[in-house]
Amino acid sequence: MKRLTLLGSTGSIGASTLDVVARHPDRFSIFALTAHSNHEKLADQCLKFKPEWAVVGSAEGASLLEARLRSAGSATRVGYGPEALVAVASDPGADTIVAAIVGAAGLASTLAAARAGKTILLANKEALVMSGALFLDAVCENHATLLPLDSEHNAIYQCLPPHAAGAAPHGGVEKIILTASGGPFRTRDPKTLADITPEQAVKHPNWSMGRKISVDSATMMNKGLEVIEAHWLFGLPAERIEVLIHPQSVIHSMVAYKDGSVLAQLGNPDMRTPIAHALAYPDRVDAGVQPLDLAAIATLTFEKPDEARFPCLRLAFDALRAGGTASAALNAANEVAVEAFLAGRTRYTSIADTVARVLDTISHRAAHTLDDVLEVDREARSLAAGLLGTRDEPLAAAVR
Ligand code: NAD
Ligand code: MG
Repeated sequence: MKRLTLLGSTGSIGASTLDVVARHPDRFSIFALTAHSNHEKLADQCLKFKPEWAVVGSAEGASLLEARLRSAGSATRVGYGPEALVAVASDPGADTIVAAIVGAAGLASTLAAARAGKTILLANKEALVMSGALFLDAVCENHATLLPLDSEHNAIYQCLPPHAAGAAPHGGVEKIILTASGGPFRTRDPKTLADITPEQAVKHPNWSMGRKISVDSATMMNKGLEVIEAHWLFGLPAERIEVLIHPQSVIHSMVAYKDGSVLAQLGNPDMRTPIAHALAYPDRVDAGVQPLDLAAIATLTFEKPDEARFPCLRLAFDALRAGGTASAALNAANEVAVEAFLAGRTRYTSIADTVARVLDTISHRAAHTLDDVLEVDREARSLAAGLLGTRDEPLAAAVR
């Protein structure tokens, strides 16, 4: 029986994870569930999965959650705030931590899980993008295990020789190929990109995901973050990581070997497949996913990404090549710009502009300690907010 702590249980990855967990009560039980503000959904999850702990973002949310749980006769204990997240991520009551908080907010708890030597099922790519080598050192030094939930990285993990994640892969690997759907604006007239609304940007053609990652998928910053994530997970330099647009999202990624073989992992675009793979690893369990019907799909197509349409992808490669704290600056600027865009405070096209200007302005340094990373994160956030503030142009009717 694996005992799980699910950080970010009310999100899209959280819900898919609980769906798989519910199918296998003989294999998985829940030690802790956490949410930021949706205490009602968290209460429903607690009543169903009966964790020992539930954590929310604020004291007020905690008392509302507590009242609801007590009136329903639940014994789940309630905590709140970042310290409580760190506590449940490192508590001996769980052996496996699903890191599914979105953005930099997930870094401290995911790192705490690594320091406590847990098996970490990583969805929170931003945490790894920010802290890179520091995070991997914590995994290594504390004998933690890292399994990727991101569908591309999970696919690569499945196509690599056993036990290659977190270390330089087998010498026979030539490169890895990350597939990308191209998002909702792959064929849109580039002259109209500035008019894109948040509602249009979060409507992904193939995947149903949280709002931030959906915007990242539209700009392809998501793929850029995934390139950096792949660099750390699989120990390959930028030159040996390729991005290929594949609009059907059936091939989730590929590994090309020196002998000319290319191994791919295929499946329907449903996160329950990589989640079930990592949860049950090294076993295989039913994930509730529809079987793949290739005859019905009939056509798989591929194209090179258009750099002019997706400047965020190049920016991420630039940050990876620059090294040190550059990826943390990229991530922070992107989080601030995406939030401003989702709130209707800036245009879609300012996301890439803001990230580019922050990367140009901030001096990159070595990331020796977590403080180095957090300092650059703060600096980049404040710079991005300033840039977005000065550009707080009247909203286009479509954005309002
Ligand atoms: P989501 O927005 O649906 O859910 C985010 C979760 O994080 C929620 O439970 C929320 O309560 C919690 N959260 C948000 N802010 C927080 C804060 N400040 N403190 C504590 N908790 C907070 O996001 P998602 O789509 O489930 O994505 C989660 C992570 O997984 C992201 O890093 C994303 O890049 C990654 N990911 C998601 C998918 C997907 O299909 N959704 C696929 C691959 C990777
Ligand atoms: Mg992905």
